[in-house]
Amino acid sequence: MSEVDRMLEANAAHAAAHRALPDARPRRQVAVVTCMDARIDVLGALGLGVGDAHVIRNAGGRVTEDVLRSLALSVHVLGVRAVVLVQHTRCGLEGVTDEELVERTGATLSFLPIADHDRSLAEDAAVIAAASYLGPVEEIAGLVYDVDTGALREVVLRARD
Ligand SMILES: [Zn+2]
Repeated sequence: MSEVDRMLEANAAHAAAHRALPDARPRRQVAVVTCMDARIDVLGALGLGVGDAHVIRNAGGRVTEDVLRSLALSVHVLGVRAVVLVQHTRCGLEGVTDEELVERTGATLSFLPIADHDRSLAEDAAVIAAASYLGPVEEIAGLVYDVDTGALREVVLRARD
C-alpha cells in the first residue's frame, strides 16, 4: 500500500468526525514559524488547537521570502498580530555550511544554516520587525524547542511600539 493510499484510508475516519470551522482567521491571532522536523508537534508544544494559529514550516523555521509572503497575508487578510519563531535542538541545519549542503543536495541554493539559535532567531526577528508591511505585528517572539525534553526556551521577545 502506498503512503498516499494509507492517508486516504485514514482520512475516512477523520472526515467522519470532522467539525468545520467557518472562520479562517486564527482565533489566537498568532502565526508560528517553525521547522519541518517531523519530531515537532507544533500545536501540542504551544498549547494550540486547530483554528488557533497559522503554522508556517520550512527547513530550519527560517524567515525566508516565502515566509514573509505568508505573514503579509496572515497580518493583513487574516488578523494575525503576533509572530512566534520556533527553532529546535538537533536541527538538521545546525552545524552545517551552505557549501556542504549544496554539495550534498546538488541544489545551488542558500540553505540558511544555523550556527547559533540565539543569533539566527534574533536575525529573523529583526527581519520581521524591519518589514514595513508587517507593522501591525505587535509581538515577535523567538523560542527554541528541545526535541528531547519537549521544553521551550525563550530567546527573543520584541514588542512593537
Ligand atoms: Zn529543524
